[in-house]
Amino acid sequence: MAPRKTVGILGGGQLGRMLTHPAALLGIPLLILDSGSHTPAKQTLLPPQPHSHLDGPFTSESHIRELASKCDILTVEIEHVNADVLESVEKEGLCEVQPSPKTIRLIQDKFRQKCYLSDKGIPVAPFAELPIGPSEKDVLEITEKLGLPIMLKAKTLAYDGRGNSPLQSTDSESIKKSLDFLGDRPLYAEGWAPFVKEVAVMVVRNKEGQVKSYDAVETIHRESILRVCLAPLRGERGVNARARELAEKAVGHLEGAGIFGVEMFLMEDGSILLNEIAPRPHNSGHHTIEACLTSQFENHLRAILSLPLGSTELRVPSAAMINILGSSSSMDPITAMADNALTVPGASVHLYGKAESRKARKMGHITLTAESDSELTERLRILLSAQPDADP
Ligand code: ATP
Ligand code: MG
Ligand code: MG
Repeated sequence: MAPRKTVGILGGGQLGRMLTHPAALLGIPLLILDSGSHTPAKQTLLPPQPHSHLDGPFTSESHIRELASKCDILTVEIEHVNADVLESVEKEGLCEVQPSPKTIRLIQDKFRQKCYLSDKGIPVAPFAELPIGPSEKDVLEITEKLGLPIMLKAKTLAYDGRGNSPLQSTDSESIKKSLDFLGDRPLYAEGWAPFVKEVAVMVVRNKEGQVKSYDAVETIHRESILRVCLAPLRGERGVNARARELAEKAVGHLEGAGIFGVEMFLMEDGSILLNEIAPRPHNSGHHTIEACLTSQFENHLRAILSLPLGSTELRVPSAAMINILGSSSSMDPITAMADNALTVPGASVHLYGKAESRKARKMGHITLTAESDSELTERLRILLSAQPDADP
């Protein structure tokens, strides 16, 4: 057997950590770049000898170049990396990068991403750009165009809703509050999507162009953070198949191999709008570890290494994923929720090994599998009753 290629991952958080598990099983050497010697991903896998994981920012040119010099292929577990350096590294033939740095750059800017997808005919909520340092008048003009409410969004460096501010009314105070919250970042606005459900589909594509999607899931957010994910998406009018079709189509317009998380809104009339795409493993695919024949993490590695893609089929009739979010600096509620889950049949606990808990920080998750939806609901009820900050 030819030796496996060494994979370098930019980012060492929980997504990197969950990539290390199938890498170990498949004998894939991994090197992680992130600041800190003990990040979630670095804790689980010894670096391939004679190297050590790299300690530095995943935006630093020198660190990315050092990682590239030690690896055959680079990939990301976060999109907020240095896409320019990745592009140079690839052009100079120093290292392959998957997915394409061009795709990572496009996705980094949510406004450019929306323009691109909408130009390709993918349905999205109406949206419009705001000038740098927008005035109250600029926001008013946008609300005239898009109606109310609107979601003001930072174009870049957004995650877990931290770059979003909903605007319900156009009085000076509300506008000022929203703009102040978003700070001096470049902004755009989206018309409100009065969805009946949020939906997500994980799509994997290999370098040979083979595409597979997982069953769609229902994602339940509170304050813009994912709380619970239910698999598979139930509903009429072939909604699961239509969501998969739209997600595959959208990913088909992006370059590069790997797994992509496609977030969507299901509207009252049954139509589906695309919210955003992540060019990496995604929180709405965590259940695939226990609930599917091949996890999103394993399929990502298979895709970027030109190994045969694994089946995306569910192995159980019904599954859920519950995020364990920090409620304060105390680790006690996290441990309590995890320990409670150990008493529930079909529950699998994942703690990410983060040293500090903070409000709304993703500290771990629980996957629940069941033989029926009613069994799942019953088990979910027990789990959520132990959640630190109430139910979703
Ligand atoms: P992520 O952590 O998924 O990267 P993000 O910070 O990039 O999130 P978005 O996905 O843009 O943020 O929005 C977060 C959540 O806010 C969505 O899942 C949805 O619940 C809500 N939201 C976003 N855009 C709209 C919209 N146009 N209309 C209604 N709700 C919206
Ligand atoms: Mg996002
Ligand atoms: Mg999102």
